[in-house]
Amino acid sequence: MDKWLSEWQTEVALASCEQCDWLYLLPPTRLPERCPHCGAAAVAQLDETTNQPVYTHPPELVLPFQVDARQAQQKVLAFAKGAWFAPSDLKGEKLHGRLQPLYLPLWLVDADVQAGWQAEMGFDYQVLSHREEFQNNRWHTREVKETRIRWEPRVGTLQRHYENRVAPALEEQAAIEKAVGRFDLRGARPYQPDTFAHAFARLPNRPPDDAWSDAQIAFMQAAGEECRQAATADHMRQYQWQPHFANTHWTQLLYPIYTTYYTDDDGKTHTLTIHGQTGRLAGRRQASMKKARRWSLVIGAVAAAFFIVSFILLLAGLVYEVALVMAGLLFVGAVVTAVTAFIPIVAAWYLNHYSQ
Ligand SMILES: [Zn+2]
Repeated sequence: MDKWLSEWQTEVALASCEQCDWLYLLPPTRLPERCPHCGAAAVAQLDETTNQPVYTHPPELVLPFQVDARQAQQKVLAFAKGAWFAPSDLKGEKLHGRLQPLYLPLWLVDADVQAGWQAEMGFDYQVLSHREEFQNNRWHTREVKETRIRWEPRVGTLQRHYENRVAPALEEQAAIEKAVGRFDLRGARPYQPDTFAHAFARLPNRPPDDAWSDAQIAFMQAAGEECRQAATADHMRQYQWQPHFANTHWTQLLYPIYTTYYTDDDGKTHTLTIHGQTGRLAGRRQASMKKARRWSLVIGAVAAAFFIVSFILLLAGLVYEVALVMAGLLFVGAVVTAVTAFIPIVAAWYLNHYSQ
């Protein structure tokens, strides 16, 4: 039986979420109540000898947290404060209590590349033309400068060594980057076992074999950009190459995020993610339709009361003329209040369907 956890040089346990299948390494005494990724289920400890993940080795590099626990707390407090008709679970102190620092894996790939390539290079050039315009009862000629692109086919070869091209180690990498943004990979430090002093780590679900296709795209983009620069072109299209790779080297880097979660009225869990370097928070503010409906009902009841009083005043108006004016004013007030009563449910519905 393989005791692969010992490679991490510190006491950590393997744990997984039965809902989203995320695999974590964490201090065995600190099993979280809920999964930091989906927040929907508990995290259960697994036996390392019978459960061997697709990639088990510790990382070479770790990007330290630049956003500390206090700053992360302020972010979630502000998030909860700005929520309209917030579900009862969307409270600042609850989000704060569930904040979990987490390291996620990423690949940095080095390789020697030899390739032949073809592309169409685009060069900007200016064209002068004239436009005739009729203004103030006479024709005017206006000079118009227009930028066009001249496309030329180019071929070439390249022989290069590329370092630290990024490839995803998680299937969810693109979604995470889209939510919180990219990470500045400068400032990474060698892995130390004390990485687990405050945080958990996620194991890769895309080992190098699987991420190789993405790494090749990263190499091609780097090579294409260099070919464009070599041709002093302003644009490039239809880049194709026939690469041969040698001496590929994979480095696993861990980057820092915080997660927390809340549950909406329907019992659905929503996770918030905070970028560990920039502090950018990503997550949905789900509104409580129940709460919005209650507000709508209260305002609707006020409108109904206005209608009733204005009707009574209308009857009184048969005797006292002044009551007619008051009845009219109150009727207008009742109509405005009745329209206002729809705002909470419409606003909450809009938030849940269209806001990010
Ligand atoms: Zn989960």
